[in-house]
Amino acid sequence: MRRLAPFLLLLLLLLPASARAWGFFAHRLINRLAVYTLPPEMVRFYKANIDYLTTNATRPDSRRTVVPGEAPRHFLDLDAYGDSAAYRLPRSYPDAVALIGEDSLLRHGIVPWQVARMKGQLTAAFQARDTDRILHLSADLGHYIADACVPLHTTRNYNGQFTGQRGIHGFWESRLPELLSGGYDFFTGPAPYLERPTDVAWATVARSHAALDSVLRFERELSTEFSEDRKFGFEQRGNVTVRTYSRGFARAYHQRLSGQVERQLKLAVRLVGAFWYTAWVDAGQPDLDKLPRTPSEKEQLRLALEAKQLEATPVRAAAGHED
Ligand SMILES: [Zn+2]
Repeated sequence: MRRLAPFLLLLLLLLPASARAWGFFAHRLINRLAVYTLPPEMVRFYKANIDYLTTNATRPDSRRTVVPGEAPRHFLDLDAYGDSAAYRLPRSYPDAVALIGEDSLLRHGIVPWQVARMKGQLTAAFQARDTDRILHLSADLGHYIADACVPLHTTRNYNGQFTGQRGIHGFWESRLPELLSGGYDFFTGPAPYLERPTDVAWATVARSHAALDSVLRFERELSTEFSEDRKFGFEQRGNVTVRTYSRGFARAYHQRLSGQVERQLKLAVRLVGAFWYTAWVDAGQPDLDKLPRTPSEKEQLRLALEAKQLEATPVRAAAGHED
């Protein structure tokens, strides 16, 4: 085993970095905490399903490499469209298709359009008082909103692959929150009503994109101050040893970013709550206490079947944001 270890390490380093936004840990945390931002009329129903919303927060990532059309929903390469793209791109998806062509749109990602579309679907689910759809859409919508808050999900250089910083994606979105979220302040206050949810989705990707410069620059700057053996360390994950950014480097990066990951994570919590709340208000504030409290047997079966299918389907390379 000892003699195998260096080979295994090399193999791990050569494996493609997975480029899902936020790690599973953060996605689950965001959906879970968003429940507590809701008003009393909503919170009983959402609390009754908090485990569902937490567990299923990562379902869209599980679908990425097996369901055609899923991958582009998680990001938007704003830099593929030139300066101030976030302010120029059409808000209406059909208009964007007419202007850019669907192939190009899907290659560079569609996250803000996806968020806007799902906000409409969730409103319709509330109007129909359909527990299964409300839960299903709330969990998925929470995922895409959280993705829109990740700076590296707004660029073609999503894993630092063009700037010699490969691995920065997982560092920012998984390693940092996993190491440091115990000390984050998650108080966000009650979810606000969004007068213009579509504009908010676009402002969110614009803000994430504006934060991108620091994400890359500070990692580069700090790397000159840390020797390789202080920058990286080895940690045990189950049976394997993985090379990963060291705790010291993670803390220094967090400080240099003035808590950017914490801020974006908190923003995601607030926005997920806000989109859920806005959809409910726009649906005429249906009485959620009159709905079935939990997903139907049919929905639970469907979820179990989907999980099985995902497991059985061979993983394909997904278009975009996958090394
Ligand atoms: Zn994702």
